[in-house]
Amino acid sequence: MAATTPRGTHMQTIDFDTRSVFIGGIWQPASFGRTLPLINPSDGSELTHIARGSPAEIDAAVHAAQAALEGPWGLLSAAERGRILLRMSARVVELADVLARMEALDVGKPVKQGMADAMALARYLEFYGGAADKVMGETIPFANGYTALTLREPHGVTGHIVPWNYPMQIIGRSVGAALAMGNACVLKPAEEACLTALAFARIAQDCGLPAGALNVVPGLGEEAGAALTRHHGIHHISFTGSVAVGQLVQAAAAKNAVPVTLELGGKSPQIVFADADLDAALPFLVNAGIQNAGQTCSAASRILVEQSIFERVVKLMAERYKRLVVGPAIDDPDVGPLISQRQREVVSNYLAIARDSGLRVAGQAELPAGLPPAGCYVAPTLLAPVRDDHRLAQEEIFGPVQVVMSFDGEADAIAQANGTPFGLVAGVWTRDGSRALRMARKLQCGQVFINNYGAGGGIELPFGGVKHSGHGREKGFEALYGFSTLKTIAIKHD
Ligand code: NAD
Repeated sequence: MAATTPRGTHMQTIDFDTRSVFIGGIWQPASFGRTLPLINPSDGSELTHIARGSPAEIDAAVHAAQAALEGPWGLLSAAERGRILLRMSARVVELADVLARMEALDVGKPVKQGMADAMALARYLEFYGGAADKVMGETIPFANGYTALTLREPHGVTGHIVPWNYPMQIIGRSVGAALAMGNACVLKPAEEACLTALAFARIAQDCGLPAGALNVVPGLGEEAGAALTRHHGIHHISFTGSVAVGQLVQAAAAKNAVPVTLELGGKSPQIVFADADLDAALPFLVNAGIQNAGQTCSAASRILVEQSIFERVVKLMAERYKRLVVGPAIDDPDVGPLISQRQREVVSNYLAIARDSGLRVAGQAELPAGLPPAGCYVAPTLLAPVRDDHRLAQEEIFGPVQVVMSFDGEADAIAQANGTPFGLVAGVWTRDGSRALRMARKLQCGQVFINNYGAGGGIELPFGGVKHSGHGREKGFEALYGFSTLKTIAIKHD
């Protein structure tokens, strides 16, 4: 694919073969030339075909990664690794609009969101490029006659399994950090959306990343993905995706006794107290539910509102819902399609459950006439009031659907917020600083935002879940510890 867009006086291009896997610096077809169709969710058209990587390609990729560790990649200093990542970051910025349009076609992501994702990828590469030579060990006061110290070393070959909803951001935060620490990576992007993963490989190659340091094998989860998780040559697995598959990944990793980072689903709440600055809160309450058509692990799919302002907040949110523009991603609407007809069915089933159990639709965007009939559209829907034990308040819907619940006081808010199997992110809106801190301490999740939500993507902020939302942390400096192992050296000199 030669994806091109005009930029200034130059035509910016990323040239790669969508039907290829990228192994050991070489673009090649999958075994027997097997491919999978790639569908544009905005209109159901076939965009292209991608390689259907098999266990044979995974095996070749792991061997190429091992060879890179023993070859030029393994010989680079931390500063040299960092410089390559910084070059990749600059190249991603130059190509951001090409990447954004590619993601619009592939994922159904509005162009401005694709642009935000591309800039986040660039920022991850910048952050981890800058950090590569700043990860230090410690000296330890030990017995007399000894000097003891710790070293941070790469795991070796790291496997990265990525979902379709934020390919660029997730590649940036996991592969970026793993490369900075000197690991060699095998990346398995999602079968529904993998163009920007391949574009990323091309960018890495053009920026001088040594062959084998990054290998990309598109393919089916149960085929290429499963082969990666059980491969004996993998030393660490970073998995981002559903809880059910995360459990399989952890079980496979256990057989080889290798560590895993699991970034799984969520049912994240934003909690709005009566003293909150509603003007500031409202855009965050709605956007964090409908961004990327609700297909965001940290989507604020539950809004908890203090009783006295419940009806007012619902009314204000509903007004925003009615103004949302839904349409093909390339037209840059507020809300694009879902990733697939399968996902559309999942979300539509939840809306049917809502209807059958008598939940009130408090606000809904209209699906405009003339949407492509084979597009995967669902009308963004606000449901209120919803009881905290209702399925729609408990299960991850992964679509543009938010439920609003009321609470009575801090203890009730905490009980409801913590009352799901998930624990990824939470938001608290209040002008009372002590209350904000009390809440933050009691919320069971990996990140808490006070009087904001998402904090601009939070590249620098460690991110991950508790309970069914997973374990381990990516993003920020913390990810560098996750993608490395600690060695202790004790030297007896007296
Ligand atoms: P998914 O689990 O179906 O797929 C994710 C990836 O796993 C894909 O690359 C897929 O090919 C692969 N896979 C599928 N079966 C596999 C198997 N048996 N072995 C190995 N790999 C396999 O998830 P999805 O539907 O693509 O993504 C949506 C889910 O991801 C949601 O639950 C969402 O919350 C979660 N997610 C979490 C985060 C986070 O950072 N916590 C970020 C984005 C998405």
